[in-house]
Amino acid sequence: MVENGSLYRRLLSDVRGEVMTDLASLARYSTDASIYQMIPDAVVIPQSTEDVQAVMSIARDEGSSVLPRGGGTSQCGQTVNQSVVLDNTKHLNRILDVDVEKRIARVQPGVVLDQLNEALKKHGLWFPVDPSTASRCTLGGMAANNSSGGKSLRYGIMRDNVRAINAILVDGMEARFSTDTAASGDYADLVGDLRALGRREAVEIDARFPKVQRRVGGYNIDALVGNDINMSHLLVGSEGTLAYFTELELSLAQLPGAKVTGVCHFRHSVLQWRPPSTS
Ligand SMILES: Cc1cc2nc3c(=O)[nH]c(=O)nc-3n(C[C@H](O)[C@H](O)[C@H](O)COP(=O)(O)OP(=O)(O)OC[C@H]3O[C@@H](n4cnc5c(N)ncnc54)[C@H](O)[C@@H]3O)c2cc1C
Repeated sequence: MVENGSLYRRLLSDVRGEVMTDLASLARYSTDASIYQMIPDAVVIPQSTEDVQAVMSIARDEGSSVLPRGGGTSQCGQTVNQSVVLDNTKHLNRILDVDVEKRIARVQPGVVLDQLNEALKKHGLWFPVDPSTASRCTLGGMAANNSSGGKSLRYGIMRDNVRAINAILVDGMEARFSTDTAASGDYADLVGDLRALGRREAVEIDARFPKVQRRVGGYNIDALVGNDINMSHLLVGSEGTLAYFTELELSLAQLPGAKVTGVCHFRHSVLQWRPPSTS
C-alpha cells in the first residue's frame, strides 16, 4: 500500500494535523458527489495555514500535487485526484470577523454556509449565495466552484459576493487577492503580468465571453479587464487549480423582512408541449 514512502514519512513528521495513508481512509476520500473515483496519494486534515504550507512544500518536492476539499459536494469530480487531499472542514472552519456596519465577514475556507448564516442571523444579516447543499458546502468550496443558488438573479453568484481572498500559490507565496493596488514584491509582479494579459486579450474576451448572468465555466479571465479589477475574482471559479484559499472576505446582505411563496400556473403541461413545426 505504501507506494510513496518518502511522501508519507515527511507528511507524518512535518504536519501537526492528521495524516491518513491507510487504504480505508484514502477510499473515503476517493470520491465526492460525482461519479468519479480516484485513490488520493494521502489525506491531510490541516490544523493551520502552516500545515497547508508544509503539505504544499512536501508535495512539490515529492512530485505530488495538493487538492483542497470542503464538503465534497461537487458533482464533476473537482475533489477527486491522485493528490494529497487537504480537508478543511475539521479545523479551518472559523468565522474570523463580522463587521455588521459594513456588512462584511472574514471566514476560513472550511466554514459551512448554514453555520455562517446561523451566526449572522442575530445581526439581521446573511450570506445570500444559496446552493441547495447549504447544510454542508463550505465557503472555500463555494468560492472555488463559483457557486450560485436560486436567488442569484437578485444577489449574484460567488464572484459578485467575494471581496478578497488570502491564498497560497504553488510556489508557497502567500498573498491577499483583492482590489488593492498597493501590491509589492512578487505579488506586484504577478498582478502586473495578469493585468497586461487582460489588456492584451480585452478585445477577444469581449467578443468570446457570453454575456449571461450565471456564467461559471472556465477561468474568470474577464475579471482582468477594465479599471475596477478585483484579483480575487480570478481565483473564484478556479476549482482549486490556481491557489489554496486560507481566508475569504465576503459581502453580506440584510435578511429579507418577509418571505412569500409564489405559485406559477402554466396553460400546458410539459407532456403536452410539442416543438414548433419546421415545415
Ligand atoms: C444535490 C446537490 C445540489 C447542488 N446544488 C447546487 C446549487 O444549488 N448551486 C450550486 O452552485 N451548486 C450546487 N451544487 C454543487 C456544490 O454543492 C456546490 O458547488 C458547493 O458550493 C461546493 O462546496 P463544497 O464545500 O462541497 O466544495 P467541494 O466539493 O469540497 O470543493 C469544490 C471545489 O473547491 C475547491 N476548494 C475547496 N476548498 C478550497 C480552498 N480552501 N482553496 C481552494 N480551492 C478549494 C476544491 O478543490 C474543488 O475544486 C449541488 C451539489 C449537489 C450534490
